[in-house]
Amino acid sequence: MRPMVYLDGRIVPAGEAMVSVYDHGLLYGDGVFEGIRVYHGRVFRLEQHIRRLYRSARAIMLDIPLTPSELIDATLATLRAGECTDGYIRLIVTRGVGDLGLDPGKCPKASIIIICDGISLYPAELYERGLEVITCATRRTPPTSLDPSVKSLNYLNNILAKIEVKRAGLLEGIMLNSEGYVAEATGDNVFVVSEGQLLTPPTHCGILVGVTRDAVMELARREGIEVQERVLTPVDLYAADECFLTGTAAEVIAVVKIDGRVIGDGAPGPVTKRLRVAFHALTETEGVPIYPEGAAGSSG
Ligand code: PMP
Repeated sequence: MRPMVYLDGRIVPAGEAMVSVYDHGLLYGDGVFEGIRVYHGRVFRLEQHIRRLYRSARAIMLDIPLTPSELIDATLATLRAGECTDGYIRLIVTRGVGDLGLDPGKCPKASIIIICDGISLYPAELYERGLEVITCATRRTPPTSLDPSVKSLNYLNNILAKIEVKRAGLLEGIMLNSEGYVAEATGDNVFVVSEGQLLTPPTHCGILVGVTRDAVMELARREGIEVQERVLTPVDLYAADECFLTGTAAEVIAVVKIDGRVIGDGAPGPVTKRLRVAFHALTETEGVPIYPEGAAGSSG
């Protein structure tokens, strides 16, 4: 595969895609985005990601200058141009080019950028062993300031938490909301298994409603596991039988230590493993095909 970029109607090799220094996405983080996976020639849950993108855009009063189906077509065309059958799509809509002031009204047209590239994953052994994490001092932005359910280009809140995580010598951390309840990881959603139930914080705790989170909740219910959205405290995490994170890049990964407390028996638990297997099976079968059935280059 070759990394390719769609930029406002043109598809070019990644190294040739250039944006203006006056783009408000760059100047102010004014825009929205999605991260999407491609597995075996199919785009996983593309419609859900597109729906979330338009929802985020509506929340910040950003008009996306393509319809959802045009955006899907542009995404698939970019994947085909790079012959990408396994990888990662970063879909970005910025406020576009304006002047140096904040006023979004000075930006006549939003810019659409679709990057199709490879993906860097956690090392395989971490999926076997599980992650150690901390709870971060940086609290998730309250919905009254910037609702975390809006996937905006303004990720400094998460980046500040990520800096804490890195300074602790770790790879991921859990963010609490301003009331001290569990929200989510810096780039993933959080689940625990407690007394046989699968629990995850509800939307009102201030989270991004993850596409992987939805898929895992669906899979768990299909497997006969009871799932509940419940407000969780850090102690609920420490006392859980199992804990795991979900996200487009991470998929399903166990957490085995939080703030020095060993979770369960310190290894990925049976429910986590089952859901990881079920999630993989879903990625093998579900998704929007890049090449329509029977077309040349189809990967099936
Ligand atoms: N929370 C945050 C803050 C995220 O950025 C992401 C996406 N990386 C997630 C959760 C997981 O969402 P999804 O499963 O849709 O990738």
